[in-house]
Amino acid sequence: MKVLVVGSGGREHALAWKCAQSARVTEVLVAPGNAGTAQEPKVRNVDILADDISGLVRLAQTEEVDLTIIGPEGPLVMGIVDAFKQRGLACFGPGRKQAQLEGSKAFTKDFLQRHGIPTAKSATFTRDNFDPSYVQKQKTPIVVKASGLAAGKGVIIVDSVAEAIATARAMFDGQFGDAGSEVVIEEFLEGEEASFIVMADGKNILPFASSQDHKRRDDGDHGPNTGGMGAYSPAPVVTPAMHARIMKQVIEPTIRGLEKDGMPYTGFLYAGIMVAPDGTPNVLEFNCRFGDPETQPIMMRLESDLTELVEAALEGRLDRVKAKWDSRAALGIVLAAGGYPDSVRRGDVIEGLDAAAKLPGKVFHAGTKVDEEGRIVTNGGRVLCAVGLGATVREAQREAYTLADEIHWLGIQYRRDIGYRAVERERGR
Ligand code: AMP
Repeated sequence: MKVLVVGSGGREHALAWKCAQSARVTEVLVAPGNAGTAQEPKVRNVDILADDISGLVRLAQTEEVDLTIIGPEGPLVMGIVDAFKQRGLACFGPGRKQAQLEGSKAFTKDFLQRHGIPTAKSATFTRDNFDPSYVQKQKTPIVVKASGLAAGKGVIIVDSVAEAIATARAMFDGQFGDAGSEVVIEEFLEGEEASFIVMADGKNILPFASSQDHKRRDDGDHGPNTGGMGAYSPAPVVTPAMHARIMKQVIEPTIRGLEKDGMPYTGFLYAGIMVAPDGTPNVLEFNCRFGDPETQPIMMRLESDLTELVEAALEGRLDRVKAKWDSRAALGIVLAAGGYPDSVRRGDVIEGLDAAAKLPGKVFHAGTKVDEEGRIVTNGGRVLCAVGLGATVREAQREAYTLADEIHWLGIQYRRDIGYRAVERERGR
């Protein structure tokens, strides 16, 4: 079978690498892919951008692709799955309506409240009905969120009412383009974050291995918010009891609620959860796709054939399949370009990839490309993700840092403490 993976990040490299391992797969196309997918056995890059929906439909038709998996949220929110389905092409991901779970925080807050799913108290405003007196009644810190897609930058946490009002106004004024035409003002939640990722087929749910990521750029979870600086799986915060609680209080009512609302959900569903000190799993956000960088460590642990799981989901029989996981922990460190997450340097030559390829673990590419002289150079904020495996998170961490430390370019930056919370928990065992 021929598989198409849409996207160009580390997530898509990991998905394509995993699909290519399947004996049933003859070739994996990646559109547009990166320098890492270009080098992967059985994988071929095609120069079509992830949001060129008609181009991708034509590609799937002319190449006779059997199965398409969509990586990023952009094309999902634009309705790529509906476009593929209309032409009878098998495509894994939610439709445009369902993808509002990520595309509109206002939609999601309303959905969560209607279905009694735990989440922070909030109110949604437009420029026309914005009510500063609501903000004045809130306790600080206050969380201000642009409702639409803002490339992971649309959440701002402020310490005063005045800042919250100014932040909301800046969003209405176009700081994040259309994404800020609706703004969610939300109560600040304390606790520990966890990512919970499942596959759904409209009705049935297949939970994936648990994971946790680090959103802040600098050690100790300081510095600016980013798309993610590292992740590991499993996440000790998701104990078996917490797993059961998240399934019962969050995932099951969400999939049931969407079905009830006439929009059954097929695809990966990612719940960003804040586990409160009393154990309540509050939903911070939903993503309608796999996480990046969570995909990289999770795919390292997946022993089942990903294409078989995706096919089972598209055929509504996820209740009859199981996912098998490597019992080891996996930990991925994001190697970012100088300047990330603001304006990033591009075109720096990456050194050490050949030496790293000889070590245990795996380096997934994200913002990389091959330049005119055939060298692999940086081409984005998050450049690589070095993933290690080990009997414990501590051992996976050691393997991942050995790998990361082989790699150099001008301005490279990465955190030295990915997984520290899990390692502390392991020490306390
Ligand atoms: P989101 O895109 O909604 O997940 O927000 C990005 C990040 O902002 C989250 O991963 C949290 O670290 C933080 N965050 C979002 N909402 C809240 C909240 N209500 N309370 C505390 N932190 C939050």
